[in-house]
Amino acid sequence: MGLRAVYPGSFDPVTYGHLDIIKRASLLFDEVIVAVAHNVDKSTLFSVEERVAMLKKAAARIKNVSVTDFDGLAVNYVKKNGIKIIIRGLRMISDFEYEFQMALTNRKLDHSIETIFMMPNECYSYVSSKLIKEAAMLGADLKEFVPLFVFKELLKKLK
Ligand code: ADP
Repeated sequence: MGLRAVYPGSFDPVTYGHLDIIKRASLLFDEVIVAVAHNVDKSTLFSVEERVAMLKKAAARIKNVSVTDFDGLAVNYVKKNGIKIIIRGLRMISDFEYEFQMALTNRKLDHSIETIFMMPNECYSYVSSKLIKEAAMLGADLKEFVPLFVFKELLKKLK
């Protein structure tokens, strides 16, 4: 079995920033599993099934990428599947504190798991799902930030 990595997150919804990280990771690892977290605080706009379906469609052309969902701690999902690597994206310094805390907490929970941070192309470094949702509500054209079909799903959801 080759080198496998898990890219966990909410992906509510998937953006070109996430896809940039997925593509970069797919070049480094034999298999990348994008793992969509169930609603922890029930505040996601899209259901876990919708988020998985959108990611599957958006990443369909990348051969060594699969998409699944998980409940509970990412580190438990990773461990259960015998994987050692968690991928996270780092956009700005503002991401750093949270990501740093999470990576070190995960390391405490299982010292054999490493978190690898990847930076997106700078043109996506300010793209976030949260902002996308807010901007969609205000009628922004978001085709530069999310795939067209995701933009359409956003508009449907916010109607
Ligand atoms: P979370 O897991 O915190 O709910 P997301 O699902 O939005 O967040 O993102 C999953 C991972 O992808 C996180 O590590 C986040 O920092 C990263 N990420 C989100 N948007 C981008 C982007 N535009 N460029 C690079 N990484 C990103």
